Amino acid sequence: MALIEVRGLRKTYGRTVAVDSLDLDVDEGQVVGVLGPNGAGKTTTVECVAGLTRPDAGTVSLAGHVPWRDRGPVTRLLGVQLQSSGLPAKLTAREAVQMVAACHDDPVDPDELVDRLGLGPVAGTRYAKLSGGQQQRLAIATALVGRPRVVLLDELTTGLDPEARRRTWDLVRDVRDAGTTVVLVTHLMEEAQQLCDRITVVAGGRVVAEGTPDEVVAGRSAATTMSFLPTAALPSGALDGLPGVVGVRRAGDRVEVTGSDDGVRAVLRALTAHGVEPAGLRVAASTLDEAYLELVRTTSLSTAPASTAPVSTVAEESR
Ligand code: ATP
Repeated sequence: MALIEVRGLRKTYGRTVAVDSLDLDVDEGQVVGVLGPNGAGKTTTVECVAGLTRPDAGTVSLAGHVPWRDRGPVTRLLGVQLQSSGLPAKLTAREAVQMVAACHDDPVDPDELVDRLGLGPVAGTRYAKLSGGQQQRLAIATALVGRPRVVLLDELTTGLDPEARRRTWDLVRDVRDAGTTVVLVTHLMEEAQQLCDRITVVAGGRVVAEGTPDEVVAGRSAATTMSFLPTAALPSGALDGLPGVVGVRRAGDRVEVTGSDDGVRAVLRALTAHGVEPAGLRVAASTLDEAYLELVRTTSLSTAPASTAPVSTVAEESR
């Protein structure tokens, strides 16, 4: 059984369906990224896993516990960094980390963690006087200081400068190497590619893709991008509608085609048939960024926006 198992999760706010029939599995020791456009339901999902929000329907198991019911054990095994930290304005950065450390049996050294996140120079500064990026790093420190078995990080590096971002990524890798399971909500494809073993893409409250970053890219119809300089004029529309070809566009003198591997072969055959050679041929796997955009664009056309469907009941075992 996965360490985190979410089944059929549904949460509505009035007429807004924030999350609908969402399933998620996270195995122990993995870093799992949750990606998706604004309002897709990512934070709501994380809040349900943390037990901070109770769903209308569905079940969540966190190491066998129901998060909104088993508060004691869940608090001991979980670290959470949300977009709003709710730390007291008058506590200094060091005091905030020490306060959370004092609630755990085997915490990390608070001073070491504060230094590691580049907060040493502002350790004695009150929370309210820290910059946005410093407050963000402090929230990460409080999520990690208890040496949690599972950590939920919501937009971990949003607002951090590039150096602080790299430091934070290194910290997440170390935490993962020490055995912590990480769920990471992010809008940054580079972050997902660098840190995540698996990703789940959510749109309209539902999962629209799941797998390793490479699997998610390979699963798209535009998994490959090829470009070339035609050695002779190509009849207009010569490459349109070829099997496996998703898009054809001009980029200066180059022709750029996206599609599957079959699409690439079909283009090469069509060029030969027209007596055109593909000079300067480049073929590359599409990036996660490209795959994500294609996914979100195609699913935003098919996923219903906020609906008013009737709310079903929470499965009994999750109460
Ligand atoms: P973002 O990337 O912008 O943080 P998200 O994917 O985390 O978005 P959620 O914050 O889960 O999305 O929001 C999903 C939907 O639920 C949105 O339409 C949002 O307006 C709505 N929503 C979330 N929390 C509440 C709330 N407390 N009250 C009312 N509506 C809410």
